[in-house]
Amino acid sequence: MTSASKPQLWFLTGSQALYGEETLEQVAGQSLRIQQLLSASGALPAEIVGKPVLTEAASIRRVLQEANADAACVGVIAWMHTFSPAKMWITGLDALRKPLLHLHTQLNEALPWSTIDMDFMNLNQAAHGDREFGFIQTRLGVPRKTVAGHVSDPAVVARIDAWARAAIGADHLRNLRLARFGDNMRDVAVTEGDKVEAELRFGVSVNTYGVNELVEQVDAISDVDALVQRYADEYNVVPELAAGGARHESLQYAARIEAGLRKFLTDGGFGAFTTNFEDLGGLRQLPGLAVQRLMADGYGFGGEGDWKTSALLAAVKAMSVGRDRGTSFMEDYTYHFGPGKPKILGAHMLEVCPSIAAAKPSCEIHALGIGNREDPVRLVFDAAPGPGVVLGLVDLGDRFRLVANEIDVVAPDEPLPNLPVARAVWEPAPSLATSAESWITAGGPHHTVLTQAVGTETLRDFANLLGVELLVIDKDTTPHDFADRIRWNQAYHRLAQGF
Ligand code: MN
Repeated sequence: MTSASKPQLWFLTGSQALYGEETLEQVAGQSLRIQQLLSASGALPAEIVGKPVLTEAASIRRVLQEANADAACVGVIAWMHTFSPAKMWITGLDALRKPLLHLHTQLNEALPWSTIDMDFMNLNQAAHGDREFGFIQTRLGVPRKTVAGHVSDPAVVARIDAWARAAIGADHLRNLRLARFGDNMRDVAVTEGDKVEAELRFGVSVNTYGVNELVEQVDAISDVDALVQRYADEYNVVPELAAGGARHESLQYAARIEAGLRKFLTDGGFGAFTTNFEDLGGLRQLPGLAVQRLMADGYGFGGEGDWKTSALLAAVKAMSVGRDRGTSFMEDYTYHFGPGKPKILGAHMLEVCPSIAAAKPSCEIHALGIGNREDPVRLVFDAAPGPGVVLGLVDLGDRFRLVANEIDVVAPDEPLPNLPVARAVWEPAPSLATSAESWITAGGPHHTVLTQAVGTETLRDFANLLGVELLVIDKDTTPHDFADRIRWNQAYHRLAQGF
């Protein structure tokens, strides 16, 4: 998938006409310098686009309405360089629908102790200008992230980067179209949900297509030689699947599924999809390899009709732009309680994204009892070690809830020669017991998004942008405090929805 244009963050600088032209030119120059420092950091996933210094209500309202209407603008950064009397921001902020970051900074890092005079003080007064702006945002109830510090500090840029990624993910989700092939798995509760509420809250449009519409596309594919060659280039294809092998036709059919699925998704403008092994129509294999490769290209996916996890995966994939670590659909599968540190083995029947692979995947074919079709082709690998987060989304009936757990992906204690699927082994924070108790108390799902590409701060920013509860299980979590937080959040979110 390719985005139409590089996302933009509009940089707005507040001041007032009282200062006069000469000072406002200095303000504009210093604002440009801040923008250049942010761009030069090379750490941001979006282009900083500066706007003229704002000094009165009509132009503030106009630029914020333009931000709403501009598809390339994924968020707005505001900095009150000087004192910008905040009543002039009321109608503009009230109209703003794009994510807002309030950057509280100033151009100079050190005070010029020996030369400072009142001219310097009057030019560099964000310390109180931004407090005036903070008041009006709070008074209006404007959701935003506030970041304070000098932009030469990598920690400041990292906090802006986290928010920018969340804004990109939210924008992707707002425009996302998701195709479900069949309904969700019969009798499963957690994959159900309110698709109308999801479209209102997140923007994602979720619709179902008969799986045989996909089968028509697959059956219409004839030439897959180039695609099969790519498999040979990118993976260790087992001899029975390779050209001349006894089961090469199965690999060719897997390629036809990929080509047909890609065409269906491209033609329909879809960025995410689901499948269900109970509803495969005329498909001869449960899609495995195709799903894995589409995820690697940024498509969202959920097994068993799980459209919520599919949409979430697409959003997290969008957030991870430019990062070299991966993100995958995942399912908590089975436990290692010991010896050694307790671990979770995560996998799925087939569909784990090779973007999280530690090494070149092996392309294999094995029997799959479930689905009642021919043996499916799939990529098999271990996930790369390193820190990550698993994230799940549930529908509580009156609202959505996100649950996240910080984890460390580790190498398996021993090789897994008989496990015919890709897998990740991880140690959840703070411990397997507290992680699982907390996750289950929160009603967290068994399907998740596992990401090593973005961190918890991005996910917190993302939840705030969406106005959705996020419960984080990390090194500081205790079961009792976590249960209390669930109770308090319950009250808060019900009250907040009532306003
Ligand atoms: Mn599943």
